[in-house]
Amino acid sequence: PPPPPPAPAAGARGQLGARSPLDRGHLESVGATVLRRRAGATRGWLKVQDGCDRKCAFCATRLARGRSRSRHPDEVVAEARVLARTHPELVITGVHIGHYGRDLAPRTTLTALVRRLLDEVAGTSPAPRFRLGSIEATEIDDGMLGLLAESGGRLAPHLHMPLQSGADPVLRNMRRWHTREQYRRRALEIAARISPLGLGADIITGFPGESPADHADTIALVRELPFTYLHVFPYSPRDGTAAMRLDGRVPERVSRERGRELRDLAAEKAARYTRGRGRAEVEVVMEGRGGTALTGDYLRVEVGAARPPDPSVLHRGRLSGEGSRVVLDTPGPRRVN
Ligand code: SF4
Repeated sequence: PPPPPPAPAAGARGQLGARSPLDRGHLESVGATVLRRRAGATRGWLKVQDGCDRKCAFCATRLARGRSRSRHPDEVVAEARVLARTHPELVITGVHIGHYGRDLAPRTTLTALVRRLLDEVAGTSPAPRFRLGSIEATEIDDGMLGLLAESGGRLAPHLHMPLQSGADPVLRNMRRWHTREQYRRRALEIAARISPLGLGADIITGFPGESPADHADTIALVRELPFTYLHVFPYSPRDGTAAMRLDGRVPERVSRERGRELRDLAAEKAARYTRGRGRAEVEVVMEGRGGTALTGDYLRVEVGAARPPDPSVLHRGRLSGEGSRVVLDTPGPRRVN
């Protein structure tokens, strides 16, 4: 059997291995994740940090998880090597991965970590594909864009960048640190550099004080930016959060209606993007029993194959059915673990 993941390095400020109960809980959950994921899923979760230093008014996660704490890069790389033996795709996750490495000594960055993963793990055999988990638009630096643009698909061309609202008054009430324009500009810069690009976002509707004009601003921004999917949630108050104390409650019916409008718009954009991918060549990772697969740019496609594809490797193929299906080239090589 593959060796267990290495013990975390102890000592440096904020590194996992420090003595708080929260950290211990985190380590246990990481270990459990590795074991669970070895049991057969094709996508492995590579958790690189926990906690968050931002202060979004609606967020209960940061209250529960505490400040951002990063795993040591050596430990992450070693775990990625283990996961790569059984998972053709590794998803880089955490509560706030854009702040990865700020708490380590010496300080480092997510971009430096991903560069190491691509250099030291993605080139091994079997070679996994990496995918970034949710990351804030303002925290994607030019180095990361370079990796996305030049990795030849080893870093999936997919970004999930929480937006939450496309209206400045709402973003201020939410205590987000960026403006509508900062998000917009960065999203357009990224889209100009990376193509194709799976681009997703989270949006909250009905946040306290959200006016019809604010909602219209969000709709206009979603129309303009090249999103390929959206996750839309109606605002729901969480105990202990600053948003609980805000006036201007939006009726549930209005919040739901705004959500429906955004989801309809997202569905239109998704369909247009998918059609535009036409008969592109893609590399996919199997899902479940192999009936569907995920492309690098995060399209979920039906799989057309003469016999069940080997789930332990990435497969090359060509999109068909206006981007809704993939026809695999030939069965991928079998892995020897
Ligand atoms: S929403 Fe995200 S960025 Fe904001 S406090 Fe919560 S975890 Fe941090």
